[in-house]
Amino acid sequence: MCVPTRRKTVPVRIGSVTIGGGQPVAVQSMTNTDTADATGTAAQVAELFLAGSELVRITVNTQEAAAAVPEIRARLHDRGLAVPLIGDFHYNGHVLLRKFPHCAEALDKYRINPGNVGKGPNHDKNFATMVQCAIDHGKPVRIGVNAGSLDQELLRELMEANAKSSVPQDAQAVLLEAMVQSALRSAHAAEALGLPRDRIVLSCKISKVQELARVYQALADRTDHALHLGLTEAGMGIKGTVGSTAGLAILGQQGIGDTIRVSLTPEPGGSRTQEVRIAQQILQAMGIRPFLPQVTACPGCGRTTSSYFQELSQQVERFLHERVPEWQRHKPQVANLQVAVMGCVVNGPGESRQAHIGISLPGTGEAPRAPVYEDGVLVATLEGPTLARDFLARIEAYVARMH
Ligand code: SF4
Repeated sequence: MCVPTRRKTVPVRIGSVTIGGGQPVAVQSMTNTDTADATGTAAQVAELFLAGSELVRITVNTQEAAAAVPEIRARLHDRGLAVPLIGDFHYNGHVLLRKFPHCAEALDKYRINPGNVGKGPNHDKNFATMVQCAIDHGKPVRIGVNAGSLDQELLRELMEANAKSSVPQDAQAVLLEAMVQSALRSAHAAEALGLPRDRIVLSCKISKVQELARVYQALADRTDHALHLGLTEAGMGIKGTVGSTAGLAILGQQGIGDTIRVSLTPEPGGSRTQEVRIAQQILQAMGIRPFLPQVTACPGCGRTTSSYFQELSQQVERFLHERVPEWQRHKPQVANLQVAVMGCVVNGPGESRQAHIGISLPGTGEAPRAPVYEDGVLVATLEGPTLARDFLARIEAYVARMH
């Protein structure tokens, strides 16, 4: 299988998870509950973690939120969930981390936005306070630059220098360079304050795909710090999913990225865990990291005039989804399982042979029989009302034989 070669970065330990240094790309997510509501936040952190989010970020924006963090940690601990928890700080992180040492201790990483730590002389002072907290508590930090909250003093400095340059760049290029420099200068400052290199993660998030690619390529060329990726403010539904996929795929193909997040706005009432599943699916589709068995299904066409083919594909997806947690307890290799559900004889047998287990359903006008292939070999022909049940039983038996 063609797999992109990962760029080498410094490993960083975040709670029980290590990112960078060649470790698998980790999936992270963020809650949208009020952190001051310890019960609700712990429940959502648990939901995200159990859905596969290996790191979960919570906002720590008020004294009440900071005070609730130890209880959130305790509630997760009581459920036996060792979730690496990241605190997202803006504006007042230097105050909260100092005033609430139990919060600083309960978190596994602090996110510092260098554009939101204060202005003028307070910028460096507040930044240094947060870094010192990380040193005191032995925690890593993410220096998380965001285009929407970029350090305006740095941007002004680069804009002025650009205006005097004999080969000035356009304003957008200067903005992207300011993002990269904000991350690199902050990392340098943190190291100068005594935070080891292996406790620093960088990110430079922006909401446009091509700009995201450009800014991270520049970052990866200029540092070996571990990188967290994500298209920020990706939006909702198809737009958010496709934008995130495009951005993360471009960078994933270049081996860039040690953790990823899909910043999807959920539909009203929709599950927050959707962003976790999409992030996993991006990594899996790219061949970067397997998470779940995959179903290869053809789109169907005029040769599949009944809805049976779609129904079976859906049934297989549902079956895999339900059975995977149990299978994975004994057979982690099940994440690599490939199942094919194909609509007719044109590509059906070919795709089915290439999967671990595949079925080629009869298209319109074909004899009502469905050959099943396992490891490229025709092993059975199913038909009649028990066809779906029989195929699922074959998948179950195949997994039982996997080693
Ligand atoms: S495999 Fe058959 S049913 Fe599926 S898209 Fe191709 S021709 Fe159509």
